[in-house]
Amino acid sequence: MNTSLPNLRIGTGYDVHRLVEGRDLVLGGVNIPFEKGPLGHSDGDALTHAIVDAILGALALGDIGQHFPETDPEFEGVYSIDLLKHVASLIEKKDFMVSNVDATLILQRPKVMKFLPEMRRKLAEALNVSVDLVSVKATTTEGLGMTGNGDAVAAQAVCLLSNS
Ligand code: MG
Repeated sequence: MNTSLPNLRIGTGYDVHRLVEGRDLVLGGVNIPFEKGPLGHSDGDALTHAIVDAILGALALGDIGQHFPETDPEFEGVYSIDLLKHVASLIEKKDFMVSNVDATLILQRPKVMKFLPEMRRKLAEALNVSVDLVSVKATTTEGLGMTGNGDAVAAQAVCLLSNS
């Protein structure tokens, strides 16, 4: 048996938040000018939440709701990048490191293309990794369904961790 093979762990994450008036739109830690924002106990940053869940999944440490309960006033309005920073410390505690993260934002409006580099930078900084290891993409659903009609923002993510 080849014992030099790295110990790899993969995880997936998915999140949806309702978009409502009177909330700031924060995605990947970046404030995006728009007339609506995600409803949530935290800042509602679906992209960062999906990445948090992908990492927790890779570590088999449960999910975001278990680590940061919606009933806990400590997390009311919390900047989700701070939650990601905490989860990054769990990776280190388990002696793993991030091999890469790949995420997709799913929303119809606003167009977020020009904000993607800043999101990658913020997410990579929170994870204490090179920006090259963090990919963020965006897609619409061609006007279909809850994301297509502007009622929601969704995100999905995968994360690969390695211990070598
Ligand atoms: Mg969420």
